[in-house]
Amino acid sequence: MPAKAGFHEGKGPMTDQRTTVLGYPRIGPDRELKKAVEAYWAGRLDAAGLEQAGRELRERTWSELRDAGLTDIPSNTFSFYDQMLDTSVMIGAVPARFADLDGLDRYFAMARGARGIAPLEMTKWFDTNYHYLVPEVGPQTRFRLTWDKPLAEYGQARELGIETRPVLVGPLTYLLLAKSADPAFAPLRLLDDLLDVYAELLERLATAGVTEVQLDEPALAADRSAEELKALARAYEHLGGLSHRPRLLVATYFGEIGAALPVLAATRVEAVGLDFVAGPGNLAAVASTPGMAAKSVVAGVVNGRNVWRTELPAALSTCAALLGLAGEVVISTSCSLMHVPLDVERETAVPEGLAFARQKVAEVVAIGRAMREGPGAVVPAVPVRAPVDGRMRARLAALGEGTARAAHAERAVIQRASLGLPPLPTTTIGSFPQTDAVRRARADLRGGRIDRAGYEAAMRAEIDSVIALQEDIGLDVLVHGEPERNDMVQYFAEQLDGYAATEHGWVQSYGTRCVRPPILFGDVARPEPMTVGWAVYAQSRTGRPVKGMLTGPVTMLAWSFVREDQPLSETARQVALALRDEIRDLEAAGIRIIQVDEPALRELLPLRAAGHAAYLAWAVAAFRLATSGVSDSTQIHTHMCYSEFGEIIGAIGDLDADVTSVEAARSGMELLEDLRAAGYTRGIGPGVYDIHSPRVPETDEIERALRLAVRAVEPERLWVNPDCGLKTRGYAETEASLRNMVAAARRVRAL
Ligand code: GLN
Ligand code: ZN
Repeated sequence: MPAKAGFHEGKGPMTDQRTTVLGYPRIGPDRELKKAVEAYWAGRLDAAGLEQAGRELRERTWSELRDAGLTDIPSNTFSFYDQMLDTSVMIGAVPARFADLDGLDRYFAMARGARGIAPLEMTKWFDTNYHYLVPEVGPQTRFRLTWDKPLAEYGQARELGIETRPVLVGPLTYLLLAKSADPAFAPLRLLDDLLDVYAELLERLATAGVTEVQLDEPALAADRSAEELKALARAYEHLGGLSHRPRLLVATYFGEIGAALPVLAATRVEAVGLDFVAGPGNLAAVASTPGMAAKSVVAGVVNGRNVWRTELPAALSTCAALLGLAGEVVISTSCSLMHVPLDVERETAVPEGLAFARQKVAEVVAIGRAMREGPGAVVPAVPVRAPVDGRMRARLAALGEGTARAAHAERAVIQRASLGLPPLPTTTIGSFPQTDAVRRARADLRGGRIDRAGYEAAMRAEIDSVIALQEDIGLDVLVHGEPERNDMVQYFAEQLDGYAATEHGWVQSYGTRCVRPPILFGDVARPEPMTVGWAVYAQSRTGRPVKGMLTGPVTMLAWSFVREDQPLSETARQVALALRDEIRDLEAAGIRIIQVDEPALRELLPLRAAGHAAYLAWAVAAFRLATSGVSDSTQIHTHMCYSEFGEIIGAIGDLDADVTSVEAARSGMELLEDLRAAGYTRGIGPGVYDIHSPRVPETDEIERALRLAVRAVEPERLWVNPDCGLKTRGYAETEASLRNMVAAARRVRAL
């Protein structure tokens, strides 16, 4: 067991500087977790086999962290699916519809649904690309400790001779992320019940020998009301006041802790985790908060969200500054390392200057050593010299804001005349089902089994059939179907300068879904057209307009690891310039409608309201820079995959797209009123059916949705489309659904 400094020993010579991480990737070096869980789902692995795979992954992680030299090692960061789901099951927050199931069946049914039982809703974890399962609570919820997972994992580590710090989702964050079917019931009302369960758990952990527990409260990095801060105080006064408990580390991350710090400082929690990467103001907060001199600060100075090496001298000086302010400083990562890939050493084609999880652990250890031995023990990282493209930068400077198109109302008249579409034009969001044949052709090209010409022939054949199908169905604006795209960001990243791809850089997105985000490391430029060939080919197969299809600048950043040596806004402008050229090339090649998808516009929104305006200003400017280079007769579309716009609703019109398609099927077209109230006057395509399930919507049902829509929107502004791309669907349901959609549009037109 590693020696630990006492929490209040203060500033004596640092002989045993503590070091830790808030969490670690759990998927395994080669996605062993995904393989095991999917094998279990497919019946190829039994429950015992799955448990064994979990045990091995955990053992590997703990041993690795111990061998790397961390003094404090987290446990219970493992999960078969998601830590929020684990918490719900642990505290008995299981909705009634799962009552007939138990064990792993119930666990996975909550994650993915089972025959006739809908799963929990899934949504993004703060501003990351990790998705968690949303707890469902209500007045009937009775919390009860029904799973001893944190104890069991602690026990497993202890048997291996590794003392660990169990990690739990904090009670406040849990309830703030929970939702209730009854909007009048605020989940926070369940706080006292939940605290009883946490108290019982903490007591049991203490009895088992646990000396410290980490309670994750990332919700404290967002704006919190006075009432929520009161709940925070109540929670940690209660837990801090327990007589038999481990030490409590309340870990915040993803931003500044703000008003929550004095609240926590006034409780008996021993340690507070602060993110000094996303929250540079946290240092001043510690300095100005009475009571912090008696607390331990777990200093998140190594970035857990991005893939660049840490500037060690700067991190060290933050920690040194904290030494004078806090009772103890523990060196740590800014958040769990689950948001970065495992090991950069395995990569052969990435730029210099990167650190993945393993390298970041080594950085934490190095800073810890320097705290004992002096700054000479760390060497500054060689600054990453991002490739600079002088010509591109000069063009961008000369372009300024871009060029103005005519006002939308004027453009709409020109476009109506030139496109000659019927009222309520029908279209789709871009992708058609990705068939096995399409995936095989891509894999064969990568594996060298077919050449470029063979691959292109396969894609052209697919485009032929997608175009013929759309004509037969009777859609008005066609798409090429995106068969050549594995992923809407990766496809463009592979073709742009300034982006690199990893071979093994997997990160968990949700459950068993892992992604390999590209790395944007230098100036972005477009060596040659990226989509024009496919679009032109598709247009050559039909007399109806084919819509060109691109991924917008914000989404290109949001789903990548992005350089940090210049503001995001600057990087967004570079991506926008490349897209602007692509859009002009599409226009010059005869494509009259171009869609620029921005599904990530909302998720990059800063967690605190104070940052919203500045973010929206650059995000909107980047979109406009990309899309304003075309003539007034070229119609620009955009697409977003959600209907709850919240704080960004005002920005939708500012994008100045001619048509926006959104998700609306699940919210009963209410959003059209919201958009109108926000002053949106352009074309709108509210998704008329939900593509997230294989169910085929009836014509009547779509007709009803459209009738609701024409009440809220003038028919000349209304478009008819599904609510997202079709690539995850099968052809049978896609064809049937689109036929019903076209039939419904014709009925409503005839009125
Ligand atoms: N054009 C993309 C598609 O249809 C849009 C995907 C998305 O919105 N996430 O697949
Ligand atoms: Zn979508």
